[in-house]
Amino acid sequence: MNVLVVNSGSSSLKFQVIATGLERIKQYTDHRLCRGEVEGIGGEAIIQFKNQQGQSQKFTAPLRDISAVLDYLVRFIASDKSGVPEIKNTGDINAVGHRVVHGGELFSESALIDDKVLRGIEDCIDLAPLHNPNNIKGIQAARELFGKTIPQVAVFDTSFHHSIPEQAYLYAVPYHLYRRHHIRRYGFHGTSHRYVAFRYRTLRGLTREQTNIITLHLGNGCSATAIRGGNSVDTSMGMTPLEGLVMGTRSGDLDPAIVNVIARKEGMSPSEVDTLLNTQSGLLGISGLTNDMRELQAELKEHEDRRVRLAIEVFCYRARKYIGAFLASMSGADAVVFTGGIGENSPEIRALICEGMEWAGLMVDPARNQETVARESKISTEDSTLLAYAIPTDEELLIARDTVRVILGEPHPS
Ligand code: ADP
Repeated sequence: MNVLVVNSGSSSLKFQVIATGLERIKQYTDHRLCRGEVEGIGGEAIIQFKNQQGQSQKFTAPLRDISAVLDYLVRFIASDKSGVPEIKNTGDINAVGHRVVHGGELFSESALIDDKVLRGIEDCIDLAPLHNPNNIKGIQAARELFGKTIPQVAVFDTSFHHSIPEQAYLYAVPYHLYRRHHIRRYGFHGTSHRYVAFRYRTLRGLTREQTNIITLHLGNGCSATAIRGGNSVDTSMGMTPLEGLVMGTRSGDLDPAIVNVIARKEGMSPSEVDTLLNTQSGLLGISGLTNDMRELQAELKEHEDRRVRLAIEVFCYRARKYIGAFLASMSGADAVVFTGGIGENSPEIRALICEGMEWAGLMVDPARNQETVARESKISTEDSTLLAYAIPTDEELLIARDTVRVILGEPHPS
């Protein structure tokens, strides 16, 4: 099945076409046919495109909305210019898989999209007003383009975290706020945490039930998840992606009273403070320089900059603190798994996070760690009892596979 994977944002859209199927022996066979990103939707959009031979193209086109983008992309992919011989017309796309940010309490699994599911995603708009409307636009645009005969599947960032027990998802605020407004922890990055947990257990030849790990997704957004028996039992992001680890531009955890203090002292509205905590904080806020970890590390190599050093220290300290908290809350784990742009590519940050974790049996092997960039490997020493791994994430692949699985009516993977 050729699956078009769509991740639609406010003015950008990421896409991939992945040929995947469930063989009789229940093995997936995957081929990534092409991938790319469209930025600047609403004006002269910039399209970046790469086919499976690795040939890249960059060009522009006036694209007013997501419908126009999908229509343009599918025609381009089907044309000779793309170098994707598997797709010769729209009919060669057999299914569409959509990343949907928030599935609230409604969706514990990926879902085949019909009118009822679409209404459910709409009901979750209140929980993710910045994200779900764009995801819905992507779904509607694909429906217009392909008609209802081509199946579409929604894969939610939140659904992996449905297994989190009440004691971990409830905030200690008056209970009626949970009942009335669904105020609770939902967690995000679920597709990524689920994918690396799957790769970890495949690498180690374990079953889902034997998978007891802490996964750290460290990208622009960062989150940690405690996975026990293959299920998410706690995660650092909360009702929104703001809680938890220090991120590129998000503060992560802070004393909630600070919101009011900033509002009063800086003459800002609550929603302005919310924006500040989401877009001006984290690595960017502390360093005053950039949200980009690679740039911060390069800067520090060139000259000592106290605030750059502090930003990295606060980032790593918070991540270590969550490892410790989750070790306690899940009664110990077998491994810590790093993923995301920083987790996959920065041996230095991984080493800093694991510093002083010998008490828990975690020792990073300096040579293994250094050699492990953008590939899967164990990075802890042979005598560690708490292992460490780096595993590149692949959310699009999981979306494509879920799409096929849901269409075929296969149960949740074990
Ligand atoms: P997103 O969460 O938007 O998907 P990514 O997972 O691509 O983001 O992660 C982006 C982050 O990863 C940036 O802070 C970037 O600097 C960092 N990163 C990528 N490569 C490296 C590297 N080699 N060393 C350190 N940080 C890196």
